[in-house]
Amino acid sequence: MPIQIVRNDITKMKVDAIVNAANNSLLGGGGVDGAIHKAAGPKLLAECRTLGGCETGDAKITRGYRLPCRYVIHTVGPVWQGGGSGEREKLISCYKRSLELAKSKRCETVAFPLISSGVYGYPKDEALNVAVGAVSEFLADNDMTVYIVIFDRAAYQIGEKLFKDIKEYIDDRYADEHSDSVSERLRRMNAPSVHTLRENGPVFGAAPMAADYAPAAKAAPQASPKAAAKAISLDDALKQLDESFSEMLLRKIDERGMTDAQCYKKANIDRKLFSKIRSDRHYKPSKPTAIAFAIALELSLSETKEMLEKAGFALSHSSKFDIIIEYFIERGNYNIFEINEALFAFDQALLGA
Ligand code: ADP
Repeated sequence: MPIQIVRNDITKMKVDAIVNAANNSLLGGGGVDGAIHKAAGPKLLAECRTLGGCETGDAKITRGYRLPCRYVIHTVGPVWQGGGSGEREKLISCYKRSLELAKSKRCETVAFPLISSGVYGYPKDEALNVAVGAVSEFLADNDMTVYIVIFDRAAYQIGEKLFKDIKEYIDDRYADEHSDSVSERLRRMNAPSVHTLRENGPVFGAAPMAADYAPAAKAAPQASPKAAAKAISLDDALKQLDESFSEMLLRKIDERGMTDAQCYKKANIDRKLFSKIRSDRHYKPSKPTAIAFAIALELSLSETKEMLEKAGFALSHSSKFDIIIEYFIERGNYNIFEINEALFAFDQALLGA
């Protein structure tokens, strides 16, 4: 998956290159810098001595020595001075320069800590925002998997207002689903409804979709010629019922006038996985992958549910993950990175491969 937010110690990441939040001297410091030097051993410092320091916003590369990565890219983030001293531009430049260096060494996987967000004082949520923005811009033109490694979860929070909104949204819906009477719950346990069957496994048959298409087919005779051309005939509707996930995905990409690459990049899915889905009519994606495509295609909630059904999944109010997805789709917010930030904040699986 091209960009992933993970919680880990960056010195443990098995990637081609890890990035170090260094200082201008490149001669070691505290925080992540100290941890990287400690894990790499003294030869890293010896090589750093030969580099002649590094400007803020720039990056230099060394070998990884005892670390499980081939390279360490040392970048120097800005010290936070309130935001009015070009901190953002400098921080963007750290990500850009580091990724260019990684590319020049043919790295396919790179892991970043949240540069500047420790001793240098950059507010963590803004630092994450810059990281995600800069990395996704680079990935629009380059094939690479980039990890943003968050070390201390407690210190990380998405914007307070957004967090509060989502939390309320979850609380309302989650409560609804869990406030059934005992008798109601017992009844459901004895006789699983279509709804619960859908949550737990593949869906056989697709009644809601047939209903969805019926009005369009019926409306066709009275519609204007233009609308009639667009209306779905019964024949088309039946064809679409038989459509697999992969076929529906490709059809929607065409209908939206997107290229395949635009779609899988927006979905945060890597090219190889997309090719697999493309070439295998019966490919069954994971739920986060299926949702990632729905988000990339900016599908409505009902279209999203339809696409999920093709892969044997449903959205339900008994899952926080599903409610968060619903929250974003209902608001027309299809920014996968923002959705992932929210999923991450609520400890849920992230979208993408
Ligand atoms: P800076 O001086 O650029 O602020 P710091 O090292 O103080 O650099 O902190 C940068 C970020 O790295 C902080 O968010 C900190 O929590 C995080 N960090 C510290 N140690 C590790 C580690 N071992 N792995 C990943 N991130 C780390």
